Amino acid sequence: MKYVSTIAIIATTTLLFACGQTDSTADLEPTVNDAAVGNETALQASLHIEDEFMREIIKEISQDSYEGRGPGSRGDAKARTYLAKRLEELGLQPGAEDDSWEQPFDLVGINTSQPDEWTFSGPESTTTLKQWDQFIIGSAVQEEHVGFENAEVVFVGYGIQAPEYDWDDYKGVDLKGKVLLMMNNDPDWDRELFGGDTRLWYGRWDYKYLSAARQGAVGTIIIHTTPSAGYPFQVVQTSWTGVQFELPAGDEPRSQVSAWVTEDSARDLVAMAGLDLDTLREQADNRDFEPVPLGITTSISMDVEISRVQSANVLGLIPGSDPELKDEVVIYTAHHDHLGIGTPNEDGDAIYNGAFDNATGVAQALAIAKAIRSLPESPKRSVLIALVGAEEQGLLGSEYYAANPTFAPGKIAANINYDGGNVWGHTHDVTYIGLGKSSIDQIAIMIAKEQGRTVKPDQFSDKGYFYRSDQFSFAKIGVPAMYIDTGTDFVDRPAEWGREQQDHYTEVNYHQPSDEYDPSWNLDGMVDDAKLGYWTGLAIANADEMPTWNAGDEFEAARIEALELTRSSR
Ligand SMILES: [Zn+2]
Repeated sequence: MKYVSTIAIIATTTLLFACGQTDSTADLEPTVNDAAVGNETALQASLHIEDEFMREIIKEISQDSYEGRGPGSRGDAKARTYLAKRLEELGLQPGAEDDSWEQPFDLVGINTSQPDEWTFSGPESTTTLKQWDQFIIGSAVQEEHVGFENAEVVFVGYGIQAPEYDWDDYKGVDLKGKVLLMMNNDPDWDRELFGGDTRLWYGRWDYKYLSAARQGAVGTIIIHTTPSAGYPFQVVQTSWTGVQFELPAGDEPRSQVSAWVTEDSARDLVAMAGLDLDTLREQADNRDFEPVPLGITTSISMDVEISRVQSANVLGLIPGSDPELKDEVVIYTAHHDHLGIGTPNEDGDAIYNGAFDNATGVAQALAIAKAIRSLPESPKRSVLIALVGAEEQGLLGSEYYAANPTFAPGKIAANINYDGGNVWGHTHDVTYIGLGKSSIDQIAIMIAKEQGRTVKPDQFSDKGYFYRSDQFSFAKIGVPAMYIDTGTDFVDRPAEWGREQQDHYTEVNYHQPSDEYDPSWNLDGMVDDAKLGYWTGLAIANADEMPTWNAGDEFEAARIEALELTRSSR
């Protein structure tokens, strides 16, 4: 494979450099140039990735005047206009059709009037749950009225059907018209099963709702626990109330409602059936588990306000310099949207500014664009900066792009995604979510090493981050993808310090109005992380061959299909 030999040459060059120097640690950076374009200008260009440039962008789009950049809102449009202007200033070309900066897409807004209470009737008693504190519910269809009457509740374990793991929680039981009560996450008691502690797609709420809909269930209730969700119930409260957006419905199966309940509420519900939640969960940690009808019924009826709005992905293109390879592309993504205006917090603040999530990612993508544009000659392959919309609503902008790509999927060499940046300082390490999945690994590890850093896999792999940001939309169409995230080992800080900062952010600011720009943020680490993406993308854009998924990876089949399609359409 040509690609491997390129890496080998790079490695040799590095070695020669090291041998030729009296101090072998000096002049490491120029070897990265060799990796990328073979001259020192790439290093000069990389210096355009700096604090001030990124800080200005973060500060700008997280201001209150952008109203939290909710999809289809005034603030969303304002952010898109600002970002297109910045891309234009940097000398990129409009990357969407008809010479436009924007790739528009329709969204259906679903605003469910959630009832204050939700009652469940057991054989001997009833339990009434309170909205917000105990349950959150939404319409699963794009219709003005949803509901069902006297549907039976069935506990279905994890709600997973995974033939490759010989796992089926439904066992052919007819679940049509039922309400499925299920656990979050996927089984993680065996390393051979569902990636052990790593959360796979099967462990995500979006999979679960789809899985239940395929069974013909009228409703799904996910039991929230902080470890199984990866975030506290307050994130469910703030993320699942107000207008929820979706791409216009296709012909996929859908239930009537999707809900979450707190763990204690689930405990109360199953107790009505004379059962114990812990025992049920234990039973579910087994291949032989079968659905447990609880003998509990429930009804619900809700009005839904349906609206239609438009948002857009903002696309800026740097055409490649090689006459043939310019048809292929490296795509950098960062979502520009956040949650908009929502439920006020205790201080009365209702604007979900999304400074960390994801003004920091947008800033990194733009800084990379600036650096690449500063090269005397563009990389061989094209580079697309895709600032995608509606990510917080379920990766909708990137999903739309993946379904309507401006380059054929088989021509997309790689996706490098940023969602949340390092605002705490230099690190000895960098997190690469998706490490171990593709040949991007070799490049990223080498470049991080040149930076004096080590590459670590997702440090919170139980949270399933690979499936929670836009690189997932690209992986699904077969594109090898990398999501660069903050390291955890901070320079001159105690070992646990980084994890503490990140945990604190998740508990206090994640998807809350308090995710605001803080002038005390230290962007040194963000500069390093953006440079890592710059060098990695450059190496990919200039390599002989495109990256590949590792053999047997969950997305390998999609890639093979995409490459075959490209070949046959020639
Ligand atoms: Zn985000």
